[in-house]
Amino acid sequence: MGRRLLFVPLPFQGHINPMFHLASLLHSRGFAITIFHTHFNSPDPDNYPKSYRFIPVPDNLPDTVRSSKDAVALIHALNKSCQASFRDSLGELLSEEEEEEEESVACVIFDAHWYALQAVAKKLGVATMVLRTGNATSFNLFMAFPLLLEKGYLPIQESQLDALVSELPPLRVKDLPRLMITSLESFTELLARGVEQVRTSSGLILNTFDSIESSELDQIKRDLSIPVYPIGPLHKLSTQTQTQSSLLAPDQSCMAWLDSQAPKSVIYVSFGSLAFMDPNELVEIAWGLANSGHPFLWVVRPNLVHGSDRIELPKWFEEETRGRGRVVPWAPQQEVLSHPAVGGFWTHCGWNSILEAICEGVPMLCRPFFGDQTGNARYVNHVWKVGIVLEGKVERGRTERAIKTLIAEREGDEMRERMADLKAKAAQCTMTGGSSYLAIDNLVDSILALQPRS
Ligand code: UDP
Repeated sequence: MGRRLLFVPLPFQGHINPMFHLASLLHSRGFAITIFHTHFNSPDPDNYPKSYRFIPVPDNLPDTVRSSKDAVALIHALNKSCQASFRDSLGELLSEEEEEEEESVACVIFDAHWYALQAVAKKLGVATMVLRTGNATSFNLFMAFPLLLEKGYLPIQESQLDALVSELPPLRVKDLPRLMITSLESFTELLARGVEQVRTSSGLILNTFDSIESSELDQIKRDLSIPVYPIGPLHKLSTQTQTQSSLLAPDQSCMAWLDSQAPKSVIYVSFGSLAFMDPNELVEIAWGLANSGHPFLWVVRPNLVHGSDRIELPKWFEEETRGRGRVVPWAPQQEVLSHPAVGGFWTHCGWNSILEAICEGVPMLCRPFFGDQTGNARYVNHVWKVGIVLEGKVERGRTERAIKTLIAEREGDEMRERMADLKAKAAQCTMTGGSSYLAIDNLVDSILALQPRS
């Protein structure tokens, strides 16, 4: 009898991608795969291997809640609304297994933020593991959060912005999570409940790799009494393409446009799937791109500007940049980053985006928005020295300078050289005997050794 793994991705693009990569990786190691998914942002089963089983978990959330910009409030609402339906669906699957002697369930792999559903699985006697889709630094921060509150680092005080957080060096107060519209109480609760569930799980899987975060991983291993598996970069280890799990259809026509550009000349601009800005910032970015004189590929999501579902760029922008730029609603990001014409990536510093840039050796211009993005930007700029951070208000003159530095000046070239080293390290860790390769073997052995349901 084979073993079946159950996966519960959080329904946001930056969480869906790594979870499906993990499913693909473990499928290639012989596990049968079942995906539990919400109706909100649900995957299309036709995009995945026929042998995957998909089980819907009705979330019953009204559209007003689903379209909330407060991602943390939405995650709490999903946990609450899915708990009972997940209990029913999981219970049904387990009794089916007993009756039909199908593959026995080895464990459920949850996104770290599904705290309420993890509690359900444990009650039903199923082993759980947790995938944290961010990096090791952010998980250390999750664990240290109560202490940071107690010590007064949070809520962030303007007068303390440059102070070092001595518990989490090299983070400074300004690198701690910025909350755009979420309340500190709601964020603290999310982290506390997530960490509590990780501590009582059978293992923590992280989409990072040893050579970029070795001391941060050591710290997690010291603080947790469960096994930790750093098995990233996951997108380089799965056979699944990015398009398969994309919630928006990528505009492939930008690839032919990139073919017509000179090597390392284009700045690719994308702020991920959730970040949003005010209309003024969009205009300042447009001016920065126009005035830089460099070719660009800019992802302008329909909901990138707060309060609007459709964005029209100013008329002058098209006139100023004619023939030099492309604007698309969604890009095939991994393909774009691996294209030889791309010389820099202006990013919001989501962890997937950073890993994808590292794997293709593309230096970054960082404009973090919220959550772990500020801490990620600190590592890009200060620890790995492969990017420039745009601090404070986005303003056309500063963005124009930063783009020129990254694409065409010595400082940008030096970052590109250091990026080539990081890219090589990322490739090494997934090769036979590399740190992630060994951690995957270890993970597979541990899953196989888990006791069937108690
Ligand atoms: N992405 C994409 N096309 C785009 C923008 C983003 O395919 O035009 C993908 C990107 O490659 C990454 C994910 O969406 O895998 C975004 O995850 P990330 O952690 O970078 O940011 P988030 O969206 O969670 O803030």
